[in-house]
Amino acid sequence: ASVQRDEGCDSERRDGMPIHGVSETIVGVLGGGQLGRMLCQAASQMAIKVVTLDPLENCPASAISYQHFVGSFDDGESVREFAKRCGVLTVEIEHVDAVALEKLEQQGIDCQPKASTIKIIQDKYLQKVHFSQHGVPLPDFMQIDDLASAEKAGDLFGYPLMIKSKRLAYDGRGNAVAHNKEDLPSVVTALGGFNHGLYVERWTPFVKELSVIVARDRDNSIQCYPVVETIHKDNICHIVEAPANVSGKIKKLSIDVAQRAVTSLEGAGVFAVELFLTRDGQVLLNEVAPRPHNSGHHTIESCYTSQYEQHLRAVLGLPLGDPSMKSAAAIMYNILGEHEGEAGFYLAHQLIGRALNIPGATVHWYDKPEMRKQRKMGHITIVGPSMNIVRTRLNLMLEKETTGNH
Ligand code: ATP
Ligand code: MG
Ligand code: MG
Repeated sequence: ASVQRDEGCDSERRDGMPIHGVSETIVGVLGGGQLGRMLCQAASQMAIKVVTLDPLENCPASAISYQHFVGSFDDGESVREFAKRCGVLTVEIEHVDAVALEKLEQQGIDCQPKASTIKIIQDKYLQKVHFSQHGVPLPDFMQIDDLASAEKAGDLFGYPLMIKSKRLAYDGRGNAVAHNKEDLPSVVTALGGFNHGLYVERWTPFVKELSVIVARDRDNSIQCYPVVETIHKDNICHIVEAPANVSGKIKKLSIDVAQRAVTSLEGAGVFAVELFLTRDGQVLLNEVAPRPHNSGHHTIESCYTSQYEQHLRAVLGLPLGDPSMKSAAAIMYNILGEHEGEAGFYLAHQLIGRALNIPGATVHWYDKPEMRKQRKMGHITIVGPSMNIVRTRLNLMLEKETTGNH
């Protein structure tokens, strides 16, 4: 008897046994932070097995992953060992051993997105060179190797001048601003000197920062999430508003830039494209993340298919889901550490207590073992029938109770 199969759906394993459930492929994730944790949460709903690799035994993902392996994602040997247990390898952080990934790929290990993508993105300077070669609009930039070239960059681009580390950047760590030529030596020193690789960017006086999550499946078809606005505080993502309050024209332009950027990279998965909107209506690329992203947390509650489920679908070769919003508006508020230790936990707990009384609010706590100042400890997403209502709910949540004695 012949078995009727869906077009393009691989319903048989290589050994001829039928597949039960959604997929039997084990997904290996390099990194076990909050993004890994939320990937595991999405996976658990469909009984997809996600295994994680992270140096921390009690990292956010470890409690939820199918199996957690303690080891460094930046160490070739532990990545190779880990890969043996996975049907497909993906990342929740780009600071992984990309050379090891490249070699694994040559040996037939399935990496999504491709090692070439991780290699380009993990070096922000290389990333800028790549995107400018592919016609993606971005702020002027240039490599600096010594004070003389830094001064030359200052003459060319003017001040303030954004100086960035090429590698290992996150949450603005690795960025510093020089306000004039005299600032250059101390700013360079603060970033660890020229040895680790620095470059400069022309200061972009943006009116808004926007972000687009782009999903691409293994057949190269693409789905984009609605354009969102990201609001940063001290270089750290603080609030995300979905959808962004910009014109249809700016939305279209943002999606065009995001698609052009992602199309120039290889492999399946979700990609976050961070953008600057300038006063004169230009949309410039800031950077791309080859993985789920802070600007897509809201999709868990506000979209038909979350960015996490979408990433799993993409890397597993399943059909992409619907990225459109099922609620009219959403705001994501990051819970950042306000104090070290217990005092920080107390404040976060107070905020969560207020959130639990807000209609449409969902609390995510990452269960990080340590509280640190400015650290992303969790987030709260509020959805509602309009952006005004959602903003009102956010303000209500942020209002600390006054004791009435003044
Ligand atoms: P992430 O956590 O997003 O990976 P990161 O450490 O890689 O952050 P960037 O995205 O390079 O840092 O920069 C952080 C923030 O600094 C940006 O979101 C933006 O607010 C500001 N910024 C970055 N580059 C520029 C620029 N050229 N001009 C003006 N502001 C900038
Ligand atoms: Mg970055
Ligand atoms: Mg960034």
